[in-house]
Amino acid sequence: MTATVIDGKAFAATVRGKVAEHVAQLKEVHGITPGLAVVLVGEDPASQVYVRSKGKQTVEVGMNSYEHKLSADTSEADLLALIDQLNNDPAVHGILVQLPLPKHLNEDLVINSISPAKDVDGFHISNVGLLGTGQKAMVPCTPLGCLMLLRDYHGSLSGMNAVVIGRSNIVGKPMAQLLLGDSCTVTIAHSRTKDLPEVVRRADIVVAAVGRPEMVVGDWIKEGATVIDVGINRIEKPEGGTRLVGDVHYESAAAVAGAITPVPGGVGPMTIACLLANTLTACCRANALPEPDGLTA
Ligand code: NAD
Repeated sequence: MTATVIDGKAFAATVRGKVAEHVAQLKEVHGITPGLAVVLVGEDPASQVYVRSKGKQTVEVGMNSYEHKLSADTSEADLLALIDQLNNDPAVHGILVQLPLPKHLNEDLVINSISPAKDVDGFHISNVGLLGTGQKAMVPCTPLGCLMLLRDYHGSLSGMNAVVIGRSNIVGKPMAQLLLGDSCTVTIAHSRTKDLPEVVRRADIVVAAVGRPEMVVGDWIKEGATVIDVGINRIEKPEGGTRLVGDVHYESAAAVAGAITPVPGGVGPMTIACLLANTLTACCRANALPEPDGLTA
């Protein structure tokens, strides 16, 4: 079997198109422009790239982008004061604090100081609790993107066996909750799981979010399964230079799977598309307007 390639880049463009259409309508009919504030503390090069890309795409879909760049030695009190100001700013519908934060700042405290209604990353404990209890939440962007790809490919996920590899708060745990919400039978595997290949072989859906280059190989995959590769790892090429690979060994997995996301061009582009979708959702909720279809969990 040669797997169908799930084109996350194309699907992300469709999501951004839907968001842009809805934003244009919000402006025209209600005079409201959704706004996303992104806070970056320090000069981490990868974070700077992400923040730039987020700002650019926010503007491209017609939203307002507010970037707050703070120096690496910013005090916790100053950062909390900025978040408080953004929480109270009616032009700001979404707030994202780029992680990781410098070591002297308490990440949990900072994230939990964001108003849950504006928490477009879905990391606030209130949103985690809402998602866990099947209530309307702001949902973390990467797992939301994976869910959208799976729903688009399969339609209903009901009754499928899903194995999520990785138990991080950012990807693994919320992914498992979302799959449970769509009536999958869910297993969360992690670094202490015994006989991981055997666990993965039971899966109709495999979501790999481990951070280990090409760890999941074709021999672990059930014939016809759908493989969602969240991993983004940069590895050295034998001839020099580097390239990006996922947590799944693409060639061997694609030979057995029914469908698979590539790296790059799979889950990656969905993350920012879902951030924009979440900002739009937050804006609609703040204004008691109907939410767009197909952009939430
Ligand atoms: P993390 O380091 O927080 O969590 C990794 C998880 O993998 C842990 O729960 C750990 O238990 C598990 N794990 C580690 N070694 C294992 C092993 N040998 N067997 C089974 N499980 C093992 O990572 P994260 O933030 O969840 O990110 C995971 C990957 O996804 C990384 O490659 C990251 O770059 C990528 N990522 C991509 C996006 C995106 O936009 N596509 C977003 C977030 C993270």
